[in-house]
Amino acid sequence: MNRTIENAYRDFPILTGNPDYSYLDNAATTQKPASVLEAIQEYYSGYNANVYRAIHRWGEEATRAYEESRTKTAAFINAPSTRQILFTSGTTDSINLAASSFCRRFISPGDEIILTEMEHHSNLVPWQIQAEHHGAVLRFIPITETGELDLEVLETLWSEKTRLLALTQMSNVLGTVNPVKEITAEAHARGVKVLVDAAQSVPHMRVDVQDLDCDLLAFSGHKMYGPTGIGVLYGKEELLQELPPYRGGGEMIRTVTLEGSEWNELPHKFEAGTPNIAGAVGLGAAIDYLNGWGMEAVEKREAALTALLVEGIRGLKGYTLYGRAPERGGIAAFCREGSHSHDLCSYLDSKGFALRAGHHCAHPLASKLGALSTVRASVSFCNREEEIIHLLETLETAGSELF
Ligand code: PLP
Repeated sequence: MNRTIENAYRDFPILTGNPDYSYLDNAATTQKPASVLEAIQEYYSGYNANVYRAIHRWGEEATRAYEESRTKTAAFINAPSTRQILFTSGTTDSINLAASSFCRRFISPGDEIILTEMEHHSNLVPWQIQAEHHGAVLRFIPITETGELDLEVLETLWSEKTRLLALTQMSNVLGTVNPVKEITAEAHARGVKVLVDAAQSVPHMRVDVQDLDCDLLAFSGHKMYGPTGIGVLYGKEELLQELPPYRGGGEMIRTVTLEGSEWNELPHKFEAGTPNIAGAVGLGAAIDYLNGWGMEAVEKREAALTALLVEGIRGLKGYTLYGRAPERGGIAAFCREGSHSHDLCSYLDSKGFALRAGHHCAHPLASKLGALSTVRASVSFCNREEEIIHLLETLETAGSELF
C-alpha cells in the first residue's frame, strides 16, 4: 500500500495496534505518530541534559534541539522571530501567562475585556481571576442560533475602556471557525489588543499569525500530535517586551541581587526554570510530521471526513446536532432523544468508539445551548471513512441495545 494521507493511521502505533477501536476524541488530545515517540526516546536515551548552562556535548545538543523546535514552531505559524515563541505547558498555561502579565501591565479598575460565549474554560477563567484582581469588567459576544458569533452585538460592546478581546479560533463544541482576522482588524481600529485561543485551529488548518495580525496566540502540543505538557504562546515582539514576567526563577533573569532582578531577553524572560525539553523536542517532531503531509492536505482530508460525519448525524432520526455554522472544523456535538449522553458514550465505547460526553469545559456555552451534556465526535486526518460510516450505523441502530 502506498503511503497516502488516507492511510495515515499506519504512522500511529496505537492505531495499528488496536484495529478494532476507533479513536474519535481528537479535540481532547491526538494520538502520536512513531516519529514523535522516537524523537522523545532519542532525546532521553541519546543526549538527555539540561539546556543552556551545561558546558558539555549533551547539554549543547539538548539546547540545540530545544531551540530548533522553537525555530520550527515559529515557521509553522509564520512568526517573524523565534523571540516571539514562548514555550509553556499548554494552551491553559499560555492564556494564564497572557492574562496575568497583560492585566498587570495594562488593566486599571473599570477597564473592559471582551470574551465570547463559546470560550473553553481556559479562555474564560484566567480572565475572571484577573478581572477580579484588577477590577476589570468582562463583556461577552453572544452566539447566534447557528452557533456563530453575533457580530452585530459586538458593535455595541466596544467602549473607550476596552483593552483586550480574547476569542477562540475554533469552538471545541460547535466546530465553528470564527472570523478572527476581521475581528482583529475591528479591534485594532479601536486600539484594542487581541488574543486568539488556537488550541483547536493550529492542528487542523494553516494558521498565519502575521496574516491574522493577532497580538497573542495560544496552542497545545498534545492536540497537534505532540506530547502533553508542552504548549506555545506567540506574541507580537513589542507587546512581549512590555509585558512583565509571569513566573520568577532560573534562566528568566539577567542579573539578580538580594534587592531585585533584571529580566533576560525574549523569549527567556517568560521561561523560568528547567523547561519541558523532551516536550519541545516532541513538538518539533510533530511539526515535521504535519509539514510532511502539508496543512493544505490535512485541511482537505479533514473537510471530507467532517462533511461525512456532520451530514451523517444530521440525517439520523432522533439526534440533534449542535451548531450550523458554514465555516466549521471536524467537531460534532450531539444528543440522542431519550438517552443521557454518558450512557450513549459508554455504549459507543463498548462498540469500539472513543468519543467524549459532558460540557466539554465550556459550561456557559452548554447552558446557552440548553444541553448541559452532549456527546462529541472529533476527527483527524488519521481517521478513516469506514470508521465514520461505522459510527453512523452504530448510532442509527443504538435504540434497543441502549435501554
Ligand atoms: N481552548 C480550547 C478551545 C480547547 O479545546 C482546549 C482543550 O480542549 C483548551 C483551550 C485547553 O487546552 P489544554 O488543556 O491543552 O491547555
